[in-house]
Amino acid sequence: MPSSLPLRANFGCSYRGIKVERKLKNELVTVYGDCMKNHAAHMGLNVVDGCGEFMPGGEEGTPEALNCAACECHRNFHRLCRYVVQYYEY
Ligand SMILES: [Zn+2]
Repeated sequence: MPSSLPLRANFGCSYRGIKVERKLKNELVTVYGDCMKNHAAHMGLNVVDGCGEFMPGGEEGTPEALNCAACECHRNFHRLCRYVVQYYEY
C-alpha cells in the first residue's frame, strides 16, 4: 500500500461515491464455557458432566440464574472465558 494514503483509508469504503467510514470497535465478551465440576472427586476420579456451556437457570438477579440450566452446577464451576470481539460500526 502506498504510504501517501491516509491511514483512515484502511477503514473506509466508498459506496456510490459517498465516503463511508467504518470504525473498528473492540468489545470484551465474557462467556462461561464448559463445566469443570468434578462429580467423582469423592471416589478419587475426575468425572465431569460434559456440559459445554453455562446457561442461566433463571431470571437475571435471582439465585437460580447462577446455576446452570443444563447441569445445575453453580456458574463458578464453568470455565470463564474472556475474549475481545472486533467488529465494524457503521
Ligand atoms: Zn456441571
